[in-house]
Amino acid sequence: MIQRLSAGSTIGIVGGGQLGRMLAMAAARLGYRTIVLEPATPCPAAQLCNQHIVAAYDDAAALAELARQCDVITYEFENVPVEAVSQLSGKCPVLPPPLSLKVAQDRLEEKKFLNKAGIETAKYAAIGSDSDLAAALVKFGGNGVLKTRRLGYDGKGQRVFRGAKSADTEGAVSALGDVPLILEILVPFTLEISVIAARGSDGAIAAYDPAENVHRDGILRTSAVPAAISGAVAKKAASMAEKLLNALNYTGVLGLELFVMEDGRLLANEFAPRVHNSGHWTEAACAVSQFEQHIRAIAGLPLGCPARHSDCVMKNLIGDEICAVPQLLGEANTFVHVYGKDDIRPGRKMGHVTHLTEKRSDN
Ligand code: AMP
Repeated sequence: MIQRLSAGSTIGIVGGGQLGRMLAMAAARLGYRTIVLEPATPCPAAQLCNQHIVAAYDDAAALAELARQCDVITYEFENVPVEAVSQLSGKCPVLPPPLSLKVAQDRLEEKKFLNKAGIETAKYAAIGSDSDLAAALVKFGGNGVLKTRRLGYDGKGQRVFRGAKSADTEGAVSALGDVPLILEILVPFTLEISVIAARGSDGAIAAYDPAENVHRDGILRTSAVPAAISGAVAKKAASMAEKLLNALNYTGVLGLELFVMEDGRLLANEFAPRVHNSGHWTEAACAVSQFEQHIRAIAGLPLGCPARHSDCVMKNLIGDEICAVPQLLGEANTFVHVYGKDDIRPGRKMGHVTHLTEKRSDN
């Protein structure tokens, strides 16, 4: 159990994107100071934190300075170098624990860890060569998704095979950069959901209702709550998140992405050891957002109630969709969040909007 941080304490955040920005806002509301370590300048979080250390995520001197000035350090993305962060934990608590970074950074380790924790995933095989791939595809009936084990996100570094023959696999490994790969069986899911859940430093757990997620071009477009699932499936999703939080001896918020099968079975796709885009709706539809929940957890404060007061749909504002903000601001029951990024670029997450409606079900 970590010591409760008193008001005025300082929280370090590695990463200065929109997630860091929203964490800094939540920390400020609870009376904490924040220091963000981020090489890019300007960055969304720098506008809201107390101090911006401009340095690479693995800059040992900058990390040591962060540890010297902070009472706890957290991170807003999962590709923070594990070694650099682990070294800090002797000087300043790092939460969530670096083990969760280590597991989430490698899709093969992640699948093994999930299965060991009793959480079902798609079948998978480690792939190092085109012949490994051909053999695994035979086992999977020719249908699979080939992914880089590390550093893939938003569908990048992936290739889908449907009804593949062995000739189709030639050159596939080098086309993805000759890096270690994983083949997952192509899952015929009916929908994708995610659970955002928190574990407090006392082991208490709070899970938000599952969101139903729609991706386009590998990027999350919308998260709707409630998801079109039964109460039993929603409970199962929450219990999978709980198993994972306990297995990682976690403190903080994580996002667990799940495939829902036609028969209601759930398969874990992946988890993010941080606040998650599919949880942005919580700032509009719950008294305590995922950002505040994360700060509460790492500050040793009691977790907030994750109940939602409204149904909602969160939509990412991508590229020039951000130009619709003046119009969105005129709509009733609409919560707009702009990330303060200067350049509008295609595919860049610029903000999000959550539309609230009356709550109709308890899922
Ligand atoms: P990921 O980068 O693993 O989150 O994958 C991006 C998206 O690709 C997911 O949200 C799914 O829509 C799809 N996808 C990933 N893995 C699989 C799979 N094994 N079977 C079917 N679709 C998948």
